[in-house]
Amino acid sequence: MTEIVFIGTSDAFGAGGRRQSAILLRAPNGGVLLDCGATTNSGLADLQIDRAEIDTVLISHFHGDHFAGLPLLLLAALYEDQRVQPLRIVGPPGVEQRVRTLAQSMGHPIDDRAWTFPMHFEEYPRGAEAELGPARIRSFDVHHQPDSKPHGLILTLGSQRIAYTGDTGWFDGLTREVAGSDLLICECTYASKNFKYHLSYEELLARRDQFDCGRLILTHLGAEMTALRGTCELETADDGLHVSV
Ligand SMILES: [Zn+2]
Ligand SMILES: [Zn+2]
Repeated sequence: MTEIVFIGTSDAFGAGGRRQSAILLRAPNGGVLLDCGATTNSGLADLQIDRAEIDTVLISHFHGDHFAGLPLLLLAALYEDQRVQPLRIVGPPGVEQRVRTLAQSMGHPIDDRAWTFPMHFEEYPRGAEAELGPARIRSFDVHHQPDSKPHGLILTLGSQRIAYTGDTGWFDGLTREVAGSDLLICECTYASKNFKYHLSYEELLARRDQFDCGRLILTHLGAEMTALRGTCELETADDGLHVSV
């Protein structure tokens, strides 16, 4: 069994006072953090989650609301936690340089520090499944701003399969990529607005029958969607939501 804790469920702009994207998967073989928005340290503290639970961080794409929390997560692991166990950071091609450059720009460089724990950067393998920490992972291309190198992810943890869209607009093939998952965590930025790089509630509701997945939970909720919360026909996440699959 895998427990999923939604740490942050807003769009890039903190809609509804929510935190940016971050989801913790408590899997049988360790913890996986799916995305690390800028507000992740605050979320972990608020939810009383120890950073030591995280063995692997998966970055879906290089937008700040999905990876800008990483530099200070690393520094907190060093200075607050005196972490010793390794941390694996997996992302799109170029992930190590992107994180190092980001940290430098933020004034918190991660080069040349006396790290108390090993840090390993890895890139998603193209078109194949790979054992990366506690999960078997397959990535797939999604439809989002290309400069951000957007990826969706299929994670196999024990006997469970969890799909995560990251940020994406609709594209033919999305339902095929996530087919067979026990849980699909799907972005839903808008209620009805049609924008090629994000999904809306209206288009997901209209296509719900095309998704072959056990449970569908919407996250990355924008202002329209947070206002709709509780009245939707599809399940929506909130910051702090726990679910098990
Ligand atoms: Zn986003
Ligand atoms: Zn994005």
